[in-house]
Amino acid sequence: MKRNKTKYIFVVGGVISGVGKGVTVSSIGKILQSRGLKVTAIKIDPYVNVDAGTMNPTEHGEVFVLEDGFETDQDMGNYERFLGIKLSRANYMTTGRVYEAVIKKERNLEYGGKCVQVVPHIPLEIIGRIERAGTRASADIVVIEIGGTVGEYENILFLEAARMMKLRKPDDVAFVIVSYLPVPSKVGEMKTKPTQHAVRALSSAGIHPDIIVARSQGAIDKKRKDKLALFCNVSPECVISAPDVDSIYDIPLNLERDHLGEILLKKLKVKAKNGADLADWKKFFDGVGKFKDEIKIAVVGKYFDTGDFVLADSYISVIEAIKFSAYHLKKRPVLTWINAKDFEVDPKKVKQLDKYDGVVVPGGFGESGIAGKLSAIKYARENKIPYLGLCYGMQLIVIEYARNVLGLKNANTAEIDPEADDLVIDILPEQKEKLKNRDYGGSMRLGSYKAVLKDGTVAREAYGTKEVSERHRHRYEVNHEYVERLENAGLVFSGRSPDGKLMEIAELPKRKHPFFLGTQFHPEFQATPFAPHPLFTAFLKASLKRHKK
Ligand code: GLN
Repeated sequence: MKRNKTKYIFVVGGVISGVGKGVTVSSIGKILQSRGLKVTAIKIDPYVNVDAGTMNPTEHGEVFVLEDGFETDQDMGNYERFLGIKLSRANYMTTGRVYEAVIKKERNLEYGGKCVQVVPHIPLEIIGRIERAGTRASADIVVIEIGGTVGEYENILFLEAARMMKLRKPDDVAFVIVSYLPVPSKVGEMKTKPTQHAVRALSSAGIHPDIIVARSQGAIDKKRKDKLALFCNVSPECVISAPDVDSIYDIPLNLERDHLGEILLKKLKVKAKNGADLADWKKFFDGVGKFKDEIKIAVVGKYFDTGDFVLADSYISVIEAIKFSAYHLKKRPVLTWINAKDFEVDPKKVKQLDKYDGVVVPGGFGESGIAGKLSAIKYARENKIPYLGLCYGMQLIVIEYARNVLGLKNANTAEIDPEADDLVIDILPEQKEKLKNRDYGGSMRLGSYKAVLKDGTVAREAYGTKEVSERHRHRYEVNHEYVERLENAGLVFSGRSPDGKLMEIAELPKRKHPFFLGTQFHPEFQATPFAPHPLFTAFLKASLKRHKK
């Protein structure tokens, strides 16, 4: 079949943030991909930061690292997981990055002496980036999420770019607004007015929506569909019902039920190879709800609270990775968040880990909660509770082992105490200069690197291959000077960089512990529903054995 011309679907938000625009983008991608179309996705974050790497997770949730090392928004993780594709820096942009590129071009005389203006040059740069991402992926469809909500000052230039694209290619661009319909508790009725205002705000940017995705606690009824259609100037079938769901993976099926795929293809004049084929997806996620046996995992982290709310968002890829592996083992994962600082206030509390089948310490930065995490690790090691450490969670294994088994009482990481006697975790040599120059943004060891696995180890057995490639995001590493001593004391470095210099995985052999392993990289970034990560699966298998005992 002849390749389709690339088509673009812009997804914007109305009324409030946090109603699942990212998941809607992923789901639209999924239902179109399931028709045999090649789909890619772009996330636009309107903030001035050049990337998401310099932000605290309380500001913006997890930083999702791409294969090429770009530090992006957690929505990118959802796109990769739903679509089973790998994205690159071409698929992500912020106001900061767009301006940075335009200013660089201006300095290089690339505008041929013209006056470089906010409009049209910024929107033109945005359009160029969107089109390049489509070409790079040879995509039939590019789904673009514009962050924020319509009517905000921040995203206006991105909306302007979208408007200009529609003007240039009327048949190739469609607009979806994901809006929220509140049901005020005292009124008990779903209200359409905020959405009408959001559509009006979008119209004032020169954009008319093709589709309204009506997010609400329940399904939208016919009366309100008709009302929105009339006042927002769309046909009633273009108002798509999107009620709250227990699992985000049900959303593609819900959208498909309202024929969103067909409607979009018709509007964009695209012929698909086949109808939607979501049978495997449906079977897999329908099955998940039926699993009865639980697997109880404690995640010991530093808490990311905003006011009275806890944002588990900061660890979303870890949560999803645990889920996927548990589902493949036909188990229901039950995650409990434990604030590492609890163990510092009352050291006896660490005993509560006995209740769980496995313990995870995810990545992190800085000193807060470290003592608590170290006591959790010691407890898991001594009491043979399966343990998986991710990045910081691996570095802390090494510190704990050095202190309590090797007897180096002051072993530490240079991140916390650069003057410590035994810096078993030290700064990466190439990072020293960067820190001196206060060059923080995008300057860690980032993105995919290969590791070679040692035969006969837990890691080697779990992966089933000799060489792996995993994503990184860290500034510190295991100090090579201590490797031999640590190994003589029983800790095994089962994964190393191909030149042998960097320690990528630390573990205890199976005869000593049912599962005690930490990775310098972040395996969670590569787990997808149909390709769960082998290390998470091996960890959960060990946890399951403990559960049965
Ligand atoms: N803070 C540690 C480092 O920079 C670990 C980073 C992480 O867990 N992502 O090396």
